Amino acid sequence: MLKLCSCGEQMALSLRTVIFAKKVNITNVPVYSCDICGRNDVFHGVKDDVGRLISQLGAVSDSRSIPFDQVHEWASLLSDLRTQMKKLQPSDVARATEERTNQLLDLLNLASSLGDESWKQEIQSRLAQLSAQYIL
Ligand SMILES: [Zn+2]
Repeated sequence: MLKLCSCGEQMALSLRTVIFAKKVNITNVPVYSCDICGRNDVFHGVKDDVGRLISQLGAVSDSRSIPFDQVHEWASLLSDLRTQMKKLQPSDVARATEERTNQLLDLLNLASSLGDESWKQEIQSRLAQLSAQYIL
């Protein structure tokens, strides 16, 4: 979960606001940023989800703000983690992701035993979002 910047510095994982079409603020997007040269790269594993969110907006007429951590499981986890500690450490992120995955797998078992298909699908899509950290 470490990435090198083009300037040679190590980039740190953080949550940033991404501005689209100068009107839409998407807040709490996982981003790699470089303290030295100020470069920001949206975390690769969530790029598709950010793109999908933007395409769902359609034509943008009003300024608005969308909290990405409310629509994306891994961004939500990072956001929770950041309220507990200032800096996102890869080891803490990995541990929290594993815990959240286990919780969701327990829920998936419950949904399966209840035969609740729509709940199962919802949990499966949240599990898929958690795997974002492995998509580099
Ligand atoms: Zn840099």
